[in-house]
Amino acid sequence: MTQRKIIHLDMDAFFASVEQRDNPAYRGKPLIVGGDPNGRGVVAAASYEARAFGVRSAISCYEAKKRCPDAIFVRPRFEVYRAVSQEIRAIMGELTELVEPLSLDEAYLDVTGKTAHQGSATLMANWLRTAIYERTGLTASAGVSFNKMLAKIASDINKPNGIAIITPAQAQDFIAALPIERFHGIGKASAKRLHDIGVTTGDELRKLPLATLVDLFGQKRGQFYHQIAHGIDDRAVKAERVRKSIGTEITFSENSLNDDFILGKIYEQAFEAFGEMSAKELCATTVTLKIKYANFNQITRSHTVKTPFKNANAAALWLKELYAHTDKHLPVRLVGVTFSHLSPASVAYRQLDLFEWENKSA
Ligand SMILES: [Mg+2]
Repeated sequence: MTQRKIIHLDMDAFFASVEQRDNPAYRGKPLIVGGDPNGRGVVAAASYEARAFGVRSAISCYEAKKRCPDAIFVRPRFEVYRAVSQEIRAIMGELTELVEPLSLDEAYLDVTGKTAHQGSATLMANWLRTAIYERTGLTASAGVSFNKMLAKIASDINKPNGIAIITPAQAQDFIAALPIERFHGIGKASAKRLHDIGVTTGDELRKLPLATLVDLFGQKRGQFYHQIAHGIDDRAVKAERVRKSIGTEITFSENSLNDDFILGKIYEQAFEAFGEMSAKELCATTVTLKIKYANFNQITRSHTVKTPFKNANAAALWLKELYAHTDKHLPVRLVGVTFSHLSPASVAYRQLDLFEWENKSA
């Protein structure tokens, strides 16, 4: 088996860096992107100047203000972050078609067998960081290794604006010394259980028999932990499949003229399709209603919004409106709902819901 060449690319303090890039007054200052410091908001991103005060993403803005009273608080501009993210994706696409985004600012690239840049993953990663800086004005860190886990760990080593390589020869020693909470895939709860039995480093994890790990964490996870302790991670870099639309439909057991029943079924489809879309970490700006009548005539009606639907309810309101303008004289046999004009909804984008309930005008 040929050795794989994997790059993990991670933008530095992404949202905060975009804000500092776009507003010179924020540069060199502690900046927090998130909700209202006097409300219930959380920190979406903090500049390195703010991190020096112990501000981290996902802590409350209230707590962030306590730790860093001089911080500047700004609201997130997700449309801008998404646009920059697409620019970065396009640059990554110049290196390889095997790009797996993890969020707006992070991705794995598989560059195995690529011949550009002398076939060197390290040169490719540095080209990537330079190209991103030249075209977006933003810095990124990269990790290079022969599997996903090690590449991800590596990108953190010389962050910000750095690169680190973990070669197969270095991997075993590197893993041995690594605290278990730094392993990608070992969560807080698992780390605690391991600490409880005296396991704190990769070396100690490696010495645990597979059977013990399976006992503790079940077959699948136990096996995975055992493998990563030995530097084995066979997970493939899964290129993002470009989905054009996500939809569901239902044929009624009996044709219906009942508005409430039909609308109820439309909402059901909207919730189901929205759920599927969210699970795939996508969001949409277009919703389409499809109705098939008893005579097998079929119509579709669409509505497009400026910013992606935040939840199924938002889409349902438009579906109700679209339905109101359809022919009410024909019995209906099928309804369907489809979301299209899809774009990636990052983990951070889902946090938007955490900001929204605060006063919008602020
Ligand atoms: Mg990042």
